[in-house]
Order: sequence, then C-alpha cells, then structure tokens
Amino acid sequence: MADIIKLLPDHVANQIAAGEVVQRPASVVKELLENAIDARSNTIKLIIKDGGKSLIQVVDDGIGMSTTDARLSFERHATSKIQKAEDLFNLHTKGFRGEALASIAAIAHVEMHTRTEGEEVGTQLRIEGSEVVSQEVCVTPKGTSLSVKNLFFNIPARRNFLKSNQVELRHITDEFHRVALAHPGITFHFYNNGSELFNLPKSNYRQRIVHIFGTRTNAKLVPVGEETHVVKIQGFIHKPEFAKRSRGEQFFFVNHRFIKSPYLHHAVVSAFEGLIKTDTYPGYFLYLEVDPSSIDINIHPTKTEVKFDDEHTLYAILRSTIKHSLGQFNIVPTLDFERNQNLDTPYAYKDQEAKQPQVTVDAQFNPFLETSGKSPSAAQGYTAARKTGQWESLYVGMDQPLGDDTGFSSVHLESDGITGSIFEDQLDVGHSVATTFQLRRKYIVTSIKSGMVVIDQNRAHQRVLYEKLLKNTTVKQSVSQQLLFPLTLSFTKSDRAILEEIRTDLIHIGFIFETLDKESLKITGVPYLIPENEVGTVLDQLISDYRHEIAGEGFSQADILSKTLSKSLAVKTGEVLDCSSQLALVNDLFACKESRVSPFNKPIYVTLTEQDIEKKFI
Ligand code: ADP
Ligand code: MG
Repeated sequence: MADIIKLLPDHVANQIAAGEVVQRPASVVKELLENAIDARSNTIKLIIKDGGKSLIQVVDDGIGMSTTDARLSFERHATSKIQKAEDLFNLHTKGFRGEALASIAAIAHVEMHTRTEGEEVGTQLRIEGSEVVSQEVCVTPKGTSLSVKNLFFNIPARRNFLKSNQVELRHITDEFHRVALAHPGITFHFYNNGSELFNLPKSNYRQRIVHIFGTRTNAKLVPVGEETHVVKIQGFIHKPEFAKRSRGEQFFFVNHRFIKSPYLHHAVVSAFEGLIKTDTYPGYFLYLEVDPSSIDINIHPTKTEVKFDDEHTLYAILRSTIKHSLGQFNIVPTLDFERNQNLDTPYAYKDQEAKQPQVTVDAQFNPFLETSGKSPSAAQGYTAARKTGQWESLYVGMDQPLGDDTGFSSVHLESDGITGSIFEDQLDVGHSVATTFQLRRKYIVTSIKSGMVVIDQNRAHQRVLYEKLLKNTTVKQSVSQQLLFPLTLSFTKSDRAILEEIRTDLIHIGFIFETLDKESLKITGVPYLIPENEVGTVLDQLISDYRHEIAGEGFSQADILSKTLSKSLAVKTGEVLDCSSQLALVNDLFACKESRVSPFNKPIYVTLTEQDIEKKFI
C-alpha cells in the first residue's frame, strides 16, 4: 500500500488549533488583552462592534514589536515568553503557548499596527485566513493595535453557532471583568458600538471592584489578608447578608490570572457555613499569590484551570483566613469559651429591638372540627403558619427518619409514574369531611375516591404561580401593587443591560420602575405576588436565570420570567401550611391546565390507589 500519512499544511493546523483556543469572540478578547498586559502596557483600549462578530480591537501602549517580530508573532509556536520546557514552571506572563495570534489569524481578517519605542516608524500587517495580504511601513503610536474582523469567516458552521450580539457581548464583558479585576494597575477603556461601557482608571483592588460593580459594592466588602510561606492571600469577600441565590461575583485569581476552582470555592463556602442560607452563594474577589513552580497552568488550552502542588494546605489556609476575616470584622460573634453561646443573640436579630411577646388565641378554634372553617379560596397566598397547631402536633417527630420497624420507609409507590388525569377520580376535597394533611412539611396528602394522592407542595405552587404569571405577561393584564415607599436598587452595568432587554415583559408582569442613573432603578410598583422585602432577591435571581437560560435559547422571555418568579415565590419545602392553605393549593393545582408536572418538568404528585395499599397488606 502506498504511504498515506501527510503533514497538514500550516493553515489547516492553525485552523484546528483555533478550534481549541477560540470558541467565541470573548476568547479572542481574552487573548488580545493578555498579550497587551504581557507587553507591559499602562493603558489598554477594547473596542467591540456587534458582539465582536464584526470587530474586536485591542489598542495598547506596550513595548510593541519590530517588523520581524510582527511577522513571526503569527507563526504557530512563536513566542517571546518561554524558551525551554522548564520555563513553564517559572511563568510571569499570561501567554506562553505561542498559538493565539496564529489561531486567530487562521479564522479571521486581522490587521496589526505596531511600533517599538526605539523605532520611528512602525509596521502594518494584514492577514486573512493565515495568508499575509499586505505588509507596509506605517506611522503609528508606540505599542500595538490589533483588530480582528469577520471572525469565523471561513468556518460557516462556527459562525452560525454564535449567539445573538447581546449574548456574545455578555461573554466579552465577563472576560473583560476578569482581566480588569486582576490588573488594577492598568487603565482600561471598553467601547461597544461607539459608546463607552467602562472607563477604569489605574487604581487598587478595592477601587477596581467598585468601578466595575458599582458604588454600592463598597459597603458590601470585607477585606481578607494572610501571608504564609505557601501562599499570600489578599482580596475581599461580601458580607454574608449579601449572599445571592445565584452564582455571579465569585472570582479567584492566582498570580494575577483568573481561574476556576470548584475545590477552592468549596473552601470559601464552608467558611461561611452557618452564616448564609444553604441555597445562597457568597461573593468574593480573592487574589492568591503562589510560587510559580508550585502550580501547573498548562493543563487546559484556555488556561482557566490550574493544578496546585498542595491543594489541601491551600484549602485549609483559605478557609481559616476567611473565617478569621468574618470574625475580625464583627460579622460573627468572637469565640469566647467561657460564655454559653446559647445565650447569644442570633445574628438575624442583632439589630432588632426587643418587643414584648404577644399571645394570640384563635377564638374560632374547635379541636373537634377537622378544618378551620374558613372557605378554601380565602387563603389565596397559602400563607405559611409557622406554628405547630392542631393536628400538626401529632406529626412532631416525623422529621426524623422513620425506623425500618415501622415498615413505612420501605413503602414503594407503585404508581410512581405520572398517572392520567386525576379528574376521573374526583378529589374528595369538596366534601365537608375533606382532609388534607402535611407530611414532613413537604407533601400535602389528600384523599381521592380511589385512594390517596401525595402532592409536592413546592412544585405544586410553582405550577400554579407559573400559569398565573404566564397569563399576566401574555394577556398583558398584570396586577401590581404600588409601593408606599419606592425602592431604589442598584445593579451592575451588565445586570442593568439585562433588565433593559426584558423591560417590556417586566412591565407586563407588574413591575413599575424608572431609571435613575447608570446603576440604579427606582421601583414604585411590583407584581402583587411579590412581597416587598423579596424584590431585590427576585430580580437578582431573574437576571441570573435569564443570563444562563438564554444560552439555551428556545424559550420566550415571558416563559423564563414566569419560571423564575414561580421558583422564587413558591412555598418552599419546610414551610408549614395551615389546612385552608393546603386545600386552596390543592384546588388551584387541579384547576391548572397542566397539573401533573412543574414548570421545570418534574412530577408534582403521585397517587396511591386503594389496591396499591391493599397489596401492601398481603
Ligand atoms: P503567546 O502570548 O503565548 O506568546 P501569542 O500568539 O499570543 O502567543 O503571541 C505571540 C507573540 O507575539 C508574543 O509572544 C509576543 O512576543 C508578541 N505579541 C503579541 N501581542 C503583542 C502585543 N500586544 N504587544 C507586543 N508583543 C506582542
Ligand atoms: Mg498570547
């Protein structure tokens, strides 16, 4: 057989490499910004058009390149940053692989202007799909300007795969934040479609964070600092009360490089244990400095993952440093072994005034009646009655796992799947002897003619709210409650941009607001379903869901909005519902168009027929 193996031509090899390095416009932004930083620039300008699809330009005032270097920089494996493999473990630059420019030039139209300090004239180079189109002498300021146009012009599949300009801009902004946060000593400007998005003067870490995330961030920050022979830690954490239900402002930098590390994230979260709710995340900006020889950055082409020599020690140091900061800044009561901690005021009550306890007596209460006598529909909001009343006391202790001897935990719900319409069965709830009860503060159990049904209260309420909200947005007939005192909420610029995008839907659903300035909104009305003290959290959740959901697209804005709100507002597992609320929820659920699955496609209830039960007794 004839030989069939051939070396790939350079431009093909470069295109293949580009597949790894350049996923979307934001990857180009990252590479170009990092090159500008490595060139020791003081000021860096980022210019974007159409989400980076038509133009990404980075202009720096760094060391520039000679004509020969300018030509060489586009060759694969051409780098000025390392010379031998050992250098990989003594890195002081962002780049080292020497493949970014070669990859970018393989899949776009690139134009470079560059000049070094010592030269009077510079070099202009144009390269399209790895082909040098022109090279000329030019007049240009010291430093380098690199523009990338028509990204993926020769790979239509990749180009079509790009998301909307807004989504691509969001990715670019995230990347810009990461680089700018890591280098507060450099001035950054960011323009999008001709208007300035960020103007970040040279500053320190704290000011840089505040410039990016808004003036109100300042009050949220608690400084963190520690220096050991393994690592130097600096930075800030958010005070626990600002923990969000969504991920977002969590940043680790190792030797001035943004990295992702679920392991170190865990260290931070565990330091916050007991201070924040379980489903919330603390914000942090942590700058670690370690000996370059103790880490390996070359484990991922985009260099966002790092392998540490001694992860466990790092984990322990990080955790205790953060605990220390939380304690030092009086965020948690200081440890005092003499004192009985049970007598401490819980954190949530710290600033509250003492009030005389009040005893209320339900004059209507009759222990011999099974329901409280209120009409079910009266309990619209399914208000959680946080007391152990009536029959509920019978189930005290049910929260502990039931021992096997009861045989209960081994009950297998045979009709676990979703059964057909429950209406054929007719709920028993209309009868005067209607009974519902709450099991483990999670399920509502009620009887139907053929047996019983066990309903997940959280999912059921999500479904009810979802259908209501969706109707409001589509019929555009929202019910909003005017706030007596308007709320002023502040957001980061990118969050504000998202709120702008969904503005019409927010209004349809019942929000009334006006724009105050670049950072804040004044909210004068909210949908009647949202309690006033939840508005901030609900909007945060919404922004984050929208940011993630849109990546999957295929959902309408109204749908995302309704899903998010239903998730935020639904009664949670663990909340006690009184009888009338349970009944109202059951009735509302079965009045829904689709009562079987939650808005997130999870089953809402299971039925257990009399036969199922009888089988258990054989
Ligand atoms: P790497 O950054 O891994 O070295 P790149 O392909 O990104 O690889 O860049 C190749 C080389 O081009 C760099 O090593 C550097 O010498 C030079 N270079 C790239 N961008 C700039 C810039 N903005 N200013 C000065 N030199 C640059
Ligand atoms: Mg580089």
